[in-house]
Amino acid sequence: MPPDYRTRFAPSPTGALHLGHAFSALTAEARARAAGGQCLLRIENTDTARCRPALEAAMLADLRWLGLDWPEPVLRQSDHLPRYGAALARLTDRGLTYNCRCSRSDIHAALSAPQEGVTHLAPDGAIYPGTCRGVGLPADVGHAVRLDLGRALNALGPAQLEFNETGPEAAGIHQTDLTDLRRMVGDVVLARRDIGTAAYHLAVVVDDAAQGITEVVRGMDLFAATPIHRLLQALLGLPTPTYHHHRLIRDTQGKRLAKRDNARSLASLRSEGATPQDIRAIVGL
Ligand code: GLU
Repeated sequence: MPPDYRTRFAPSPTGALHLGHAFSALTAEARARAAGGQCLLRIENTDTARCRPALEAAMLADLRWLGLDWPEPVLRQSDHLPRYGAALARLTDRGLTYNCRCSRSDIHAALSAPQEGVTHLAPDGAIYPGTCRGVGLPADVGHAVRLDLGRALNALGPAQLEFNETGPEAAGIHQTDLTDLRRMVGDVVLARRDIGTAAYHLAVVVDDAAQGITEVVRGMDLFAATPIHRLLQALLGLPTPTYHHHRLIRDTQGKRLAKRDNARSLASLRSEGATPQDIRAIVGL
């Protein structure tokens, strides 16, 4: 690991932290400690419809209770919207984005039309069928901004989009196959239609670079999103960190824990008397 090792834990305050978050935060912190480096905290709260200050406060309290600490100031994405806007403008100025007015149900309807055949699944759900590509819709608060993947790949030419993975399930150098990017990823959303702020994929690559992150530690559920991040780094001229995607914590049925399924929160385990040591033991640390 490089001597200036720096990673981050980057939760979104959209619900209570659960065991999966605890595992992720503790893994990031342990890797930073082993490397004599730092683990930063980043609050990924650009989704203002779902992120709540009260949830953020509860999240910080849970992390402190677990015994975690982090350098101040904490990066809150909502404090840095202009830098995501600037990155988006760079892509737009090169003709690599387009405005899109499709709702989720429009996309679903287009994909389930008989002539479209099977629905392809991507890290963000269904692959966007390209309805608004080439339509020339104006920028509008009601429109999302999408990456025009075909143009982006043309702009890059024969670039090698590789990244180094150090996680236990997929260790090694990964080449991003451009055909796979088209088939598995498609024209991802870079800014959202509701308020025009940056969506996750854009904000995460901008902030990993801004914070000097040398290794991204996060769950295997985001492994499939990494080629998109690698592509955006290449387009924006940003450095590529090493990636460490850790195993996922699953429930008794083997399903990945998720906030939306009301996975048992750290707060509820704590109120039942669990100690931070118990949490480490439950997640196998
Ligand atoms: N904010 C994301 C989440 O809560 C994590 C993003 C990342 O680590 O890249 O799932």
